[in-house]
Amino acid sequence: MPEYKKLIVLSSPSGGGKSTLARHISNIYPGLEFSISATTRKKRQGERNGRDYFFISKEEFLKKIGKGELVEYEEIFGNYYGTLKSEIQRSIGMGKTMLFDVDVKGAISLGKAFPKDIISIFIYPPSLKELEVRLRLRSTESEEQIEKRLARSEEEFSFKDHFHYTVLNDRLEDAISDIEEIAKKHIDKKLMEK
Ligand code: ADP
Ligand code: 5GP
Repeated sequence: MPEYKKLIVLSSPSGGGKSTLARHISNIYPGLEFSISATTRKKRQGERNGRDYFFISKEEFLKKIGKGELVEYEEIFGNYYGTLKSEIQRSIGMGKTMLFDVDVKGAISLGKAFPKDIISIFIYPPSLKELEVRLRLRSTESEEQIEKRLARSEEEFSFKDHFHYTVLNDRLEDAISDIEEIAKKHIDKKLMEK
């Protein structure tokens, strides 16, 4: 019997494409469950509470930290983001495999918390210039926020060797099929049925 992994983590510098890829992959495979993180960041246009994130106040977030409800959390670009224990327990209880979209430090923390159960994938754009273009075209952040995200990206790239796989996100379709190939190797085929 092959040993299947229960957690697939997608990570990248901000703007690298992990949310786009996570959305596509979890839409294609209903057996994969997207892990909804908690965050204190403001909701962007088009985002929904309980689908994209659990949008909570800083006070609520700090309470969750105090009660030990988070597997990991980071303060990123002035906001808190964290993975909820309850989300992982719910998904594993349903026999599903979870898909995570977290920053590189969060991915490394998840790897330490679940060393045997995880597959981590570092997504990277064709160049830093293209990363900047994509962040600007996304038009979801202020100039100041974009600068913060770009400034952090070089440090984030330096973590890529900590990941099991790296995937270039140049043409979106190619990146999706690369992730599908990786997932097919490591998770129960039944969960990969469309
Ligand atoms: P992240 O979640 O890593 O911050 P996003 O998934 O939000 O990144 O992607 C950043 C922006 O780049 C979005 O506007 C998205 O639509 C766009 N994008 C993602 N992948 C590609 C791609 N392969 N080619 C062109 N644009 C892309
Ligand atoms: P955004 O504000 O663009 O949605 O996310 C900013 C960063 O926070 C991204 O790198 C995203 O992957 C990361 N992130 C989202 N949820 C979590 C989480 O639960 N934990 C950690 N460590 N990072 C997260």
